[in-house]
Amino acid sequence: MAELAYREPEPKIIPGARGDWEMVIGLEVHAQVSSEAKLFSGASTAFGAVPNSNVSLVDAAMPGMLPVINGFCVEQAVRTGLGLKAKINRFSRFDRKNYFYPDLPQGYQISQLYHPVVGAGEVLVDLGPGVARKVRIHHIHLEQDAGKSIHDMDPDLSFVDLNRTGVALMEIVSMPDIRSAEEAAEYVRKLRQILRYLGTSDGNMQEGNLRADVNVSVRPRGSQELGTRCEIKNMNSMRFIMQAVEYEARRQIGILEDGGSIEQETRLYDPNRGETRSMRSKEEAHDYRYFPDPDLLPLELEQEWIDAIAAALPELPDARKARYVADYGMTEYDAGVLTAEAETARYFEAVAGGRDGKQAANWVINELFGRLNREGLALEASPVGPAQLGGLIDLVGSGEISGKIGKDVFEILWTEGGD
Ligand code: ADP
Ligand code: MG
Repeated sequence: MAELAYREPEPKIIPGARGDWEMVIGLEVHAQVSSEAKLFSGASTAFGAVPNSNVSLVDAAMPGMLPVINGFCVEQAVRTGLGLKAKINRFSRFDRKNYFYPDLPQGYQISQLYHPVVGAGEVLVDLGPGVARKVRIHHIHLEQDAGKSIHDMDPDLSFVDLNRTGVALMEIVSMPDIRSAEEAAEYVRKLRQILRYLGTSDGNMQEGNLRADVNVSVRPRGSQELGTRCEIKNMNSMRFIMQAVEYEARRQIGILEDGGSIEQETRLYDPNRGETRSMRSKEEAHDYRYFPDPDLLPLELEQEWIDAIAAALPELPDARKARYVADYGMTEYDAGVLTAEAETARYFEAVAGGRDGKQAANWVINELFGRLNREGLALEASPVGPAQLGGLIDLVGSGEISGKIGKDVFEILWTEGGD
């Protein structure tokens, strides 16, 4: 399998009033498993349903109801782990994380603290041609999502929607290997891309399928020690992640340069004001009185089952990109554009089959993607299919028509259809 060579990015230095600083970032990404049923109940996970319509007796924590593990969700967590080159833990177990909130009827969240299903892995974060950062994954665990409390519908009342209660999440926890706001956003982008290639999560950030808790600390340039971090909760946009990280690093540097110290706490980003603000002081694991959930057996996975999932993994973005560069002689940049989504890569390969790869890449990127972008259309909505575009490229390639006329023909294909 081809691999692209890369070097690490230049260190990002933040000049302070009294010296240079660097930031250190680690992310906890919550990705909703692409399962139609919840983690421990058969209720639907469909987005946008009437409030409290996708709630089983288990989700509502009615007395006597017991959770039953959804095997499909376990499989997706394992698949995700394998896609991130991670160790799969054949033994894992669910713990109760106890806290009270109106949108958590059980009074605890079922999670995996002590024995997560997936161990250490890695993600290669692309930062431009030839430049990448390897971010280590600490572990991935499965857990339930909570419901939603709604405080802004009525001046006097709060509402609770339990549709999301019990939906399966994979929490993907990185090591503190990220060093800039751009890297943090690119990390999320790459993770989302891999999840979508694997089909284990839709990664739809608008619908809350992918949310990140972003841990930020700063330290004097060159220091090897970790500073005290703050955790910015529940970020669901790359742009806001970048803004929040920049703001938070500056805030911490300001405090430290004034001789103060950072208090470990949980903060929220307010995009309207462009600042983070304190939500609560940092809680510790013991505050939640974690203990193994007595309603659930430990998960014991058979090696053959894991091997079968590994054998069926699709080609992932890094490998596909490297293959395009090696086989078609295209630039890493073009290969990145064509492999951004599995669908774009499939389309390209259908066009390139038996043809000059570079020519195919040019037509797909410049004419087709350019046109789709201008019209704000997704690839699925393209009026020009791969066979039509391929036929057009053949005519230009054989010299039957010029490249310029080819573009006119493309226009006709786009507006009138036909071959
Ligand atoms: P907790 O379980 O209390 O949330 P963890 O040690 O599991 O704490 O770390 C949670 C996340 O915070 C991880 O993604 C990790 O990389 C990140 N992190 C830990 N220490 C730091 C630090 N000093 N600066 C930035 N990120 C950090
Ligand atoms: Mg945490």
